[in-house]
Amino acid sequence: MDSHTVKQPEVYCEGDGIKHPKIYLKINKDKGYIVCPYCSKKFSLA
Ligand SMILES: [Zn+2]
Repeated sequence: MDSHTVKQPEVYCEGDGIKHPKIYLKINKDKGYIVCPYCSKKFSLA
C-alpha cells in the first residue's frame, strides 16, 4: 500500500495514477493515520 507521511492532520487526495475527485481528509490523532476511501492511499501523521 502506498503510504505518505505528512506533518499536518489535514490533507487532500485526488488519486495517484488513477485520479478521483479531490477530497479533504483529516487524520484522527488517536489513530495517527487515515486511508483515502477512493484509492486506499494511506496518510500517516509524522
Ligand atoms: Zn485518494
